[in-house]
Amino acid sequence: MEKSSLFNLAVNSLFDNIDEYADKNLLKIIFERARGDILLKETLQIAKNHSHQNCSGEDDHVNKLWATLPVLVYSKNYVSFDTTDLMQMSRNCNNFCLSNSRFQDLIQCLASNTPNLRNLTIKGLPELALSLGERELASIIQLKSLQVLYIQDVSVSLSGVLAITRKCEKLEKIAADQVCMDVEPSSDAFRDDFVFVKINANNFQENRLGLTLQKTMPIEEFPNCAAFPRYTVLCIEPRKVADLKLLRGLTQITELKFSSFQLVDIQDLGEFPLLPEMRFAWILGGKRSAHALRRFLQINGLALRELTLKGISLSDEVTLTEVFNLCPNLNSLEFNDSDFAVLNDPIQAILRFENLNLNYDLDTLIAEIFEKAWKSQNTIWNGYRVGTVSS
Ligand SMILES: [Zn+2]
Repeated sequence: MEKSSLFNLAVNSLFDNIDEYADKNLLKIIFERARGDILLKETLQIAKNHSHQNCSGEDDHVNKLWATLPVLVYSKNYVSFDTTDLMQMSRNCNNFCLSNSRFQDLIQCLASNTPNLRNLTIKGLPELALSLGERELASIIQLKSLQVLYIQDVSVSLSGVLAITRKCEKLEKIAADQVCMDVEPSSDAFRDDFVFVKINANNFQENRLGLTLQKTMPIEEFPNCAAFPRYTVLCIEPRKVADLKLLRGLTQITELKFSSFQLVDIQDLGEFPLLPEMRFAWILGGKRSAHALRRFLQINGLALRELTLKGISLSDEVTLTEVFNLCPNLNSLEFNDSDFAVLNDPIQAILRFENLNLNYDLDTLIAEIFEKAWKSQNTIWNGYRVGTVSS
């Protein structure tokens, strides 16, 4: 803030000592009368222009900036609020420190300060371990006009996310990438009008999920979803077989991306959970045992329409014929970075697609298989695709 006027001096003095003022509502009224939106703009501009390179952080300006926000972010006219720039500004400082409670103070005041928000992005920083607790969730739930909510690099409980989806009736989309599983995830718990659900389960160490729920289908990103009234995508990368218990409640998965390359006890995998609605699957094997693939197909192969295999060694445990036998309704099979012994019957297996509309030149494929068989080499299959879907 410029120090040229008496008013600015007074404001600076207030800001410097903001924690001393117990009555934050009075401050809001003072700042609103003094055109708080201009003050906010000026404050943010000063923070933005601040050269952090030569900054020792001694005057604790990051902390002070965040302390002023609960009184400055204050207007019934605000429809959007995004903390991304605030985080970036703070992070640029050599010596910055932002406590969770300072951050939470800002989120807590949104319900009363900016009750008409439609878009809210709460962006944190991974290294700060920020979180939304009960009071912050209660504040968000009171934003009755909220349509789009992003929570990124800030942890929030699954029960909290579900409460927001139930109580913010106008919500069109919510996405959170650090959702703590305080309750077991269940397809039944997602509101029906959120027709598209995407779950990322690759952080079992911290018991966290990424979760996106929205009322419209993202057809560009997931073209298959256009044909379904509801569509659930699950990307799962378990570290232990026990992690697959996550699937118990997720009964409505349509598309699965299952990566088994981190699975330490892969050979202990008994029965793979049944996913009755699943039609599309990507199995990523990381060139490890194909045991998980066989277990998966034994239970879920029947319903599959499209299967993509990546990094799978089919040679020892699973033959291509077995893949087709377990997936009689398959329209499309794609291999990437997968290999198997050529002598284990790929031609016979592929010829089963004879009457289908192949999008790969079958003659070339068979010629290649013969050539490699002749040389007794193992084939590396890259990007081969057979099926009814033309590209
Ligand atoms: Zn600085």
